[in-house]
Amino acid sequence: MPIASDYTALTNSLKRLASLAQVQDLLGWDEQVCLPPESHPARASQSALVAELYHREASSPAIGDLLSRLEASLSALDADAQLVVRDARRNYDRLVRVPPELAARQAAAHSAAYHAWKTARASSDFSLFAPHLETVLSLAKERAACLGFSGAAAYDFYLDLHDPGLTATFVKPLFSSLKEGLKSVLPQILNSTRKPPAGLFKDFPEDRQERFIRDVLTRLGFDFSKGRLDRTTHPFCSGHPLDTRLTTRYDEQNPLDSLFSSIHECGHGLYQQGLPIEQQGTALGDYVGMAVHESQSRLWENQVGRSRAFWAFWEPRYRELFPHQLAGVSSDQLYLAINAVEITPIRVDADEVTYNLHIMLRFELEQRLFSGDLAIKDLPAAWNALSLDTLGLIPSSDKEGCLQDVHWSGGAFGYFPSYTLGNMMAAQLWATIRRQIPAVESQIAQGDFSALLSWLRLNIHRHGKRYDTNTLVQTVTGEPLSPSALIAYLRERYLPLYSY
Ligand code: ZN
Repeated sequence: MPIASDYTALTNSLKRLASLAQVQDLLGWDEQVCLPPESHPARASQSALVAELYHREASSPAIGDLLSRLEASLSALDADAQLVVRDARRNYDRLVRVPPELAARQAAAHSAAYHAWKTARASSDFSLFAPHLETVLSLAKERAACLGFSGAAAYDFYLDLHDPGLTATFVKPLFSSLKEGLKSVLPQILNSTRKPPAGLFKDFPEDRQERFIRDVLTRLGFDFSKGRLDRTTHPFCSGHPLDTRLTTRYDEQNPLDSLFSSIHECGHGLYQQGLPIEQQGTALGDYVGMAVHESQSRLWENQVGRSRAFWAFWEPRYRELFPHQLAGVSSDQLYLAINAVEITPIRVDADEVTYNLHIMLRFELEQRLFSGDLAIKDLPAAWNALSLDTLGLIPSSDKEGCLQDVHWSGGAFGYFPSYTLGNMMAAQLWATIRRQIPAVESQIAQGDFSALLSWLRLNIHRHGKRYDTNTLVQTVTGEPLSPSALIAYLRERYLPLYSY
């Protein structure tokens, strides 16, 4: 078969797989958003069937044969097609080199570990979770070994899985210098006599919050003709460019949580809506990795959403919708509440200044778990010691310490660093955007986000997965991934605010 038709056959298969993955995704979305409580058993078997179909098709020998033939005459393909083949090979190997019995053991272990984690967390009893985490970790190492990564390198396998091209050796010095840089911001904030006002927000009706949020997301550029916003317990974004699903939650006593969660998810959604539709299923239509995805959500949430420029436009509208609730709140108080900084033991409650410390702690522990330096039974003590070192506090219980996150129960190792790498990248992109669009902040203050979105479309979204994480940053900003822009941004935003 000539190489052109082999390539077409491959991309057709990849498109079919993308459609199957989208069906899986939709079932998951529906389960979180609108599945009736007694319907779960039916959903479990539907999801299992689609997962089985996906696995069978994605690991089919026919795809393996196509890839081998294309690789044999790779140089006859153009650069884009070569990239698509290489990425498809990576994904294919990751599936077929893992024996089905290992995949089955992992699925069972993750499910058992998730339920054990929930019970352990509720009673703050790590011993209930420890044996499960032991199994999950050992299976994760086994999976990495199937792909040729063992010992400390197994952790690199997971980092690369979430953020192509990254290794622990690369990430480590970035985190160290970020930790050092935070020392030039955080003490000043914590020692400031200026404290974020407490109990400022009361009784913000949900329907009005939703109206405001829909207004904001529409203006940011989210295309509601190809997407939705619904309610859920834990906000997320799923779907694909033609059907992007955002979810949020409402708390009448904490409206900023709903607002910023929604802007965050919208950032993910805007990235998704900007990926090349015609390339769906191939690397050219895919997102780069979690760090780049997170850079998009964080940029809209923090650099844009928490800025003075943003609130210059939105504050009058916010007050119009909540005249009584905001009657006693000055503009300065509102802005300070939006940019409140406080040390907390809980990662998901952390602000953008202290958040990265939570990630550094997890990164350190994950490396030790993979290298074998740290035994599972010693995890709570190690967590608490590191917490004291990085956050300056010891959690009052394991529920607020090593049992707080769901990630490890599902074997999601190497995922946490993406959050901080995304923060770094967001700040680097923002610094570049301000240089290249000097009027961006005055546009934002006018409620005009179009130049910003076009810039992201042109420089990030349209490339799909053409570049790996660091190459994308280097190409777009002219510098490798680094914490310098994040430190500069945090100093510029927070020091004036907390300078007395
Ligand atoms: Zn996110």
